[in-house]
Amino acid sequence: MLHDVAKTKDLTKSNRKEEREKAEAELPAPLPVLRAMFEWLEKKLDATPCDHTHRFTLQYARTNELDEEALLEWLRDYGGECDCEVLAQVESSNAALKG
Ligand SMILES: [Zn+2]
Repeated sequence: MLHDVAKTKDLTKSNRKEEREKAEAELPAPLPVLRAMFEWLEKKLDATPCDHTHRFTLQYARTNELDEEALLEWLRDYGGECDCEVLAQVESSNAALKG
């Protein structure tokens, strides 16, 4: 019985690690670049309200020569339907960005 509990715990741990590794492998750009993008978006949206497009995200993508299509597709997968949703949803729902 005790053995089974330990086994279940191990499994949960490795699933979480797998989830994180999978999320990291799917990132459309290096993690530091994406983290910088969230910080930059936060500043932009502080000064200018979101017009519910990806205008700032795209601006960042162009400036940093990221793959715009891959970036948007990835952001949408994690609930980032526009710049403010990118900030509100993506960081907290993506295993590679959490914590
Ligand atoms: Zn918005």
